[in-house]
Amino acid sequence: RVYYDEDADLSVLDGRTVAVIGYGNQGRSQALNLRDSGVEVVVGNRSDDYRERAREDGFDALPIDEAAAEGDVVFLLVPDEVAPEVYEGKIEPNLASGDVLYFSHGYNVTFDRIRPPDDVDVVLVAPRMAGTSVRTLYEAGEGFPSILAVNQDATGEATATALALAKGIGSTAAGVVEGTFDMETKVDLLSEQALVPMLMGAMRAKFEVEVANGIPPEIVMSELYLSKELAEIFELMAEEGFLGQLPYHSTTSQYGQLSRAEEFDHEPLKAFVEERLREIDDGSFAREWSAERQRDGATLDRLYEKHRESEFVRAEQETMAKLFGRD
Ligand code: NDP
Repeated sequence: RVYYDEDADLSVLDGRTVAVIGYGNQGRSQALNLRDSGVEVVVGNRSDDYRERAREDGFDALPIDEAAAEGDVVFLLVPDEVAPEVYEGKIEPNLASGDVLYFSHGYNVTFDRIRPPDDVDVVLVAPRMAGTSVRTLYEAGEGFPSILAVNQDATGEATATALALAKGIGSTAAGVVEGTFDMETKVDLLSEQALVPMLMGAMRAKFEVEVANGIPPEIVMSELYLSKELAEIFELMAEEGFLGQLPYHSTTSQYGQLSRAEEFDHEPLKAFVEERLREIDDGSFAREWSAERQRDGATLDRLYEKHRESEFVRAEQETMAKLFGRD
């Protein structure tokens, strides 16, 4: 089911305070939007820098535990990898019966890294949007799509509250799709772990064949994505659908795209996606990522280095320097 503004009633938040914990990408934008929607908001943050920023924005900005104690609804908007320790140390001891715990990503609940007590509502409103756009689209009155889910309904009102919160942050203006924490976690992780590697692999394949056939790397790279034509195509696709945007291309292009898509067999790609899904389902990705954090991100650093030294990224950087005078 998809919910819009008319399905949500902000008055269910009357007399309740929302504590936004974490004043980063999502935290700042969601806090500002809620306040502009007439919701009472306090901000909880660890360090002085972000707390100061919240104060400059006019919020009552408190240490995390104090904000959590003040909130009837607690937004946990710190990075997912630190959320369990923040939750255990500062949030859980300050949750009262009937409070609402709110997430913007299902990860920690899905992987059992955060186990809220039985007497609180546990809800999710996960914007399919970067934090800055959550604010600018709210200001423009357009909204942004989100996935909404209720994982625990202690009060019997969790869905109404989640809908009001989705409206408060400005999401129901665009449409909110109901799902589960598990579904949100899966589609998000599979975009990152299956779709992006496949897209990058497809681009590398095109790059390698073209360069091997004597086309200069800067021509290859600017055609690939640096010209932003691809970004524009994706934007048109979101607005008009895949077939709807095709007429913006030449008929040669339309024929080439549709006829050669017939030649491409995506079936073998499914094995890659299924393997990623298996690792998500059986918890092995989550365990691997936790272990990586224990090692202070050593593998992540190594992977960055490997990519930085690849022919593809070097060609991209050199082309950017030539095209835009950037390093
Ligand atoms: P950010 O990385 O922007 O969060 C930064 C905030 O977290 C700052 O306030 C920072 O404060 C605080 N923080 C960082 N480390 C700690 C710590 N160890 N203890 C206490 N506070 C800490 O997070 P995002 O906004 O990107 O993500 C928040 C949630 O939103 C996540 O669940 C994420 O999955 C979800 N989400 C994010 C999207 C995005 O576009 N980024 C999109 C959709 C959902 P300080 O450093 O001052 O302590």
